[in-house]
Amino acid sequence: MERRMSAQQLVLRQRAELVRALCCGGSSEGLESILDLLLSWGALVWEDYLNVCVAGKTLCSRTRELLDLAYSKGESTCCLLLAALSHVLPDAQKDNLRFGKCSNIQNSLEMPTSATLTLLSDRPDLVTQLRNCVEGALGILVEKGFITSSECEEIQLPVYTSSQQVRRLLDLVKCKGEVAAEVLLQFSKRIQKTVVPPNKNDTFTMSASVAEYQKKLCSSISAQSHFLSTYSDTGKFSLDDIYTEGLLELGQTSTQKSLNLEDVVGPVGTLNMEADTVLVSGEAGSGKSTFLQRLHLLWARKTVLHNYLLLFPFSCRKLNTEQQDLSLKELLFLHCCWPDRDQDQLFQFILDHPHLVLFTFDGLDEFKQTFSDDQRHCCPTQPAPMPVLFFNLMQGSLMKGVRKLVTSRTEAVPPILRQYLRKEVLLKGFSPDGIDCFVRKHHSDPGVASHVLESLWSNTALLGLCHIPVFCWIVSKCYKELLGFGNSGPQTITDVYLMVLQHFFHHRISKGNRLGKGWVQQHFDTIMRLGKLALQALENSHYIFSETEVQNGGVTEEDISKGFLIQSKNISFDGIHYEFLHVTMQSFFAALFIILDSNSNNHHTIKRLFQTPRPEGCLGILQAKKYDGPSTENPNLQITSTFVSGLLSKRHQSLLLQCHPIQTLNKKRKQVVKCVSRGMQNHFKSIPRPVKGEKKSMHAMPGFVWLIKCIYEMQDSEVAKNVVATLEVEHLKLTYCNIGPLECTALAFVLQHLQSPVGLQLDSNSVGDVGVEQLLPCLHVCHSLYLRNNNISDEGIAKLVEKGIQCQTFKKIALFNNKLTDVCTQHFAYLLKTKQNFLSLRLGNNNITAAGAEQLAEGLRCCQSLQFLGLWGNNIGDKGAEALSHALEDSRTLVWLSLEAHAGCQVENIKPTKTSATLTRASDETYPSGRKWSWQCRSTGPCQSNS
Ligand code: ADP
Repeated sequence: MERRMSAQQLVLRQRAELVRALCCGGSSEGLESILDLLLSWGALVWEDYLNVCVAGKTLCSRTRELLDLAYSKGESTCCLLLAALSHVLPDAQKDNLRFGKCSNIQNSLEMPTSATLTLLSDRPDLVTQLRNCVEGALGILVEKGFITSSECEEIQLPVYTSSQQVRRLLDLVKCKGEVAAEVLLQFSKRIQKTVVPPNKNDTFTMSASVAEYQKKLCSSISAQSHFLSTYSDTGKFSLDDIYTEGLLELGQTSTQKSLNLEDVVGPVGTLNMEADTVLVSGEAGSGKSTFLQRLHLLWARKTVLHNYLLLFPFSCRKLNTEQQDLSLKELLFLHCCWPDRDQDQLFQFILDHPHLVLFTFDGLDEFKQTFSDDQRHCCPTQPAPMPVLFFNLMQGSLMKGVRKLVTSRTEAVPPILRQYLRKEVLLKGFSPDGIDCFVRKHHSDPGVASHVLESLWSNTALLGLCHIPVFCWIVSKCYKELLGFGNSGPQTITDVYLMVLQHFFHHRISKGNRLGKGWVQQHFDTIMRLGKLALQALENSHYIFSETEVQNGGVTEEDISKGFLIQSKNISFDGIHYEFLHVTMQSFFAALFIILDSNSNNHHTIKRLFQTPRPEGCLGILQAKKYDGPSTENPNLQITSTFVSGLLSKRHQSLLLQCHPIQTLNKKRKQVVKCVSRGMQNHFKSIPRPVKGEKKSMHAMPGFVWLIKCIYEMQDSEVAKNVVATLEVEHLKLTYCNIGPLECTALAFVLQHLQSPVGLQLDSNSVGDVGVEQLLPCLHVCHSLYLRNNNISDEGIAKLVEKGIQCQTFKKIALFNNKLTDVCTQHFAYLLKTKQNFLSLRLGNNNITAAGAEQLAEGLRCCQSLQFLGLWGNNIGDKGAEALSHALEDSRTLVWLSLEAHAGCQVENIKPTKTSATLTRASDETYPSGRKWSWQCRSTGPCQSNS
């Protein structure tokens, strides 16, 4: 039997093997990790550590120094050394080594009594936690004055790996005293909270070349993300100055929790754990590119997403221009950042550590090819055409484990891609507070900001538009024009774009020469040249133009100087490239060209623009989404058609007549009206016959909201009237249709002409208070309004009730899961008192308390019509329930009541057999899912519920 050796003997006997194990890779990380552990366990004191680490010594001599030191310190130090070795060395290197009983040593040290001692005892963990955010930690210490910027630079010298940088930082902070140590520990705690390591057991060593590349990537991303292209002409604002948080929510859930930037990539809301691709979707101009830009900038500054060491930002626009087959390696290095050395080693690192890498793709909707998963490509080094590479990345055959973040216009997300999505996040633009904040950031003069905001609040159609950041930007940019409008400001998107067009032309001509009515005529040639370029490109999903393309399109230097075309800021292009200020601007120019060009071919262009989804019966359409023409495949052509409708509005006729004969304009207008009407008829025809006993109901299909928006842009009530004249439904369902305030304005404009009342179901959209106000013009044709999950507050309800009591037909409202408080109940009490035909009030899952229930009870006392009252998921308590109970004692109409305090089951279809009733509290055994109230008839015992 083998004699058991002491730890000292094991260290001595295995000296050569131990030196080899620690030095064979050439990296000092192993030795340094062991030193970290020994320091934290108290096996080495600071002087020992400095002796081992004397500068200038080779790795081998430092290793020998450590072995000698441990041996000289005795058995217990050797035992800890072996334990540390067993902890740090990879399994393959441990095979021929013996660690005795030391490998399972437990750390039984006392709790450190000061921050500097904690730095020592937690050293191994701190190195791991801080290595991805050294810059952030340094930033805070410099800001608080604990270290100087030259110390900071010294620590970050590129010769050090990030782990070494952390060690140097820890060593420095240790000498700076308790407070500095405390600050660093707090920073690390904060990081710990926000960062979930992808795999706790995963250890890696970042070589100098990876660190160097990371640095280069950070500085190139930082440079690219610093400014927004829409501010490039002024140079006034950096992204930091103007960025305003947009509303980010999980797609397809009923909870409207706002997400933060880290949540988007993080685990919240994951639907498919196997998938790597996270989709951020939103309308054109809702801020998707800006959101990514912000994310890139903060990552490059090491402020967010610490667990991603490398971030590769792609633009689908730019990927479109790639003609050659590329391998994944070439794609990364050519399109994002070129490594100055050790490409193979770097690429191997990426392949070995996919969870440390993040890819972002901006503008999936701008990618030329439609997503397809026909062709599998898994080899990272083998070249393939760009679409194949891109689709395989998103779908996960290539670079499995790398998180991919893709942005796209909502309507352009191919259904087939959805199965590969980890989750979907909706970017819903600015909240009303966001608009306020943005306008104040944009205007440094508070007087001007207040003036702009005042004129926005007095024009709610425009306020509705401003929820989309790009419109908010235009309105802020053109504030002088806006304020000049007086009370009749812009109403439609086309109005807003005509305003910015005028602004840009005006801006560029000399003072004193104000543009008169003839400004379109004056700039006709420029408009046509830019318009032609825009349209031809849009039809081919082309968004970036080389200098030659611009010249071939006849676009002159002077045209460019107007500012609609800007230089593409993607620095990895050869030569100058241009793009429109925003894709919506490209669409607007394309629309102007279609309207102003006298070529008869435009007849076909208009026809193609307005081709609508081919109805195949309701379900067929929803599942298969087959389209006839480009209008819905290419969402930018959809916006173009909206602008075409707007430009053909009679309100703009006088402007366009200066350069186009009235007959041609009228002809085009007639054609558009015909296309839109036919599109709507197609929708109506596809409404299935009602099942016996059910209401005739229409579920909005793709394109419905777009057609409604086109009609609104025309601002012609006759068109709206004619279009809905033949619509015969009792229920119009528009759930999960991305309906915000802007869409509400358009819906109300059209639906107010309905011949007979409908139930309008708008659940799970982003209607908000502004949207509620926009819906009021059509409230008289709504017998029921369903607004569950819509971010509505008491303010919106005040306006809704004020109008609702004047509308005879309006009888039911559902407001489950909004932001309502007791304030709204006084409005509803008033409605119950005044409107004696009101049937149903559903206020579940809001923030109503006993005081609110008491207010409602006041209203209920005088109400002779209410049949349904939903209050579950509020907090009305015993007091509130009692108040309701008393108020309902004489009710002859109520048939359904729900008061459960928590989500779960609910009491339904309670039919009191007697008119006098009281509410009693149900015992917990009866309703284990939570406390609930049930309706109880005094003489007959508890009523039956079907919960
Ligand atoms: P999308 O990519 O959704 O089409 P963009 O991100 O290009 O929209 O936004 C268009 C413009 O709107 C930006 O250039 C900027 O002027 C403004 N914008 C968008 N989002 C924000 C934001 N979060 N903060 C400030 N401005 C924004």
